[in-house]
Amino acid sequence: MSESTSNVLSTWARNIAPSPTLAVDAKAKALKAAGEDVCGFGAGEPDFDTPDFIKDAAAAALAAGRTKYAPTPGIPALRKAIAADYSARGFGGIAESQVVVSPGGKMSCYLAILATVSPGDEVLIPAPYWVSYPEMVKLAGGVPRFIPAAPGSGFKITPAQLRAAITPRSKLLILNSPSNPTGAVYGEAELRALTAAALDAGLLILSDEIYEHLLYDNTPSLSPALLAPAEKAANVITVSGFAKTYSMTGWRLGTLVAAPEIARAVADLQSQTTSNATTFAQYGALAVYEHPAKARAALAQMLARFDSRRLRLWEALNAIPGITCHRSQGAFYLFPDIRSFGLPSSEFAARLLDDERVAVVPGSAFGAEGHVRFSYATSEETIEKGLERLTRFCAKLRG
Ligand code: PLP
Repeated sequence: MSESTSNVLSTWARNIAPSPTLAVDAKAKALKAAGEDVCGFGAGEPDFDTPDFIKDAAAAALAAGRTKYAPTPGIPALRKAIAADYSARGFGGIAESQVVVSPGGKMSCYLAILATVSPGDEVLIPAPYWVSYPEMVKLAGGVPRFIPAAPGSGFKITPAQLRAAITPRSKLLILNSPSNPTGAVYGEAELRALTAAALDAGLLILSDEIYEHLLYDNTPSLSPALLAPAEKAANVITVSGFAKTYSMTGWRLGTLVAAPEIARAVADLQSQTTSNATTFAQYGALAVYEHPAKARAALAQMLARFDSRRLRLWEALNAIPGITCHRSQGAFYLFPDIRSFGLPSSEFAARLLDDERVAVVPGSAFGAEGHVRFSYATSEETIEKGLERLTRFCAKLRG
């Protein structure tokens, strides 16, 4: 870095790493735009269109002139619907005042971290982790501390590992089940024990449940706030959103449910930064609660496609000599082990893109060397073509 640049940029700007997942996606898209035939497994977004009933509701809101600022924490009808939904799911009488709608689940996570982490506080992050958590923690002046989950444990950490990582500076544990990048989902006993270990030690939990509805193999949807002892449930912040469930990544709508004091702080931070999530987009999301049967049907349709792709890709990856792949139960990712090829994951991914025009994200981006992430939020045709190319690439690497 030149001296003049270092004088111009702040500590925050100099220390932040740009999102490697968005970078892979951008490179694949640029190659495609240049006419290259790229098989993209990099994207973290469903390849389906947003369901019509949601688009129609947003269009009607636009036509009705819902084009002005909304209340900072969200339009009242949407907050009320979200609160009622969480309450009905057993979260125990969630009030509208505990719900904040933000421009994307990413922003919800960031604001939750800003609202709870002071400079020097440690934030415990199980690895592999979603790329943004460590950077968000650093932007808050916090210190990310990683807890590595072994592939043999299904990419899940244990309460003993968590306890061993806690120090007097530990403030927050971030959980993400189903996980990006592994697709791993904690079982009930595992999540209950982990939740208890964190809360007993006085930590707050940020539970990022953005993939909560993308579950396979009859895996139940679980939440630390539901498994926490009632007197400690207020120490859990639950984040979710509409992007992954209803294929609404570009709408930028995230949700946060927390104790009133935390929700208020999140709303205050939002009031001084982004103000509110886009007003007419919120009316689109409201349709999910006003038409639950349509929402269920749309989700079921997408899930069926994701599930058949998951199984196809998982079986085919395991059939490639040198690759082993854990069977994920959620989200739309597989995270195969490529250690047998003896290459750093970044080199494996770069060569795969250069030689065969297949885009995957290196595990190093998620704090997990020796793996690469495949997103199966891509067409069946791309999956088949990509598998053919990957098989050829791996055979060449093995000589
Ligand atoms: N959390 C995780 C684990 C994610 O993978 C993502 C998106 O990739 C998000 C949060 C944020 O989603 P959005 O900001 O699109 O709602």
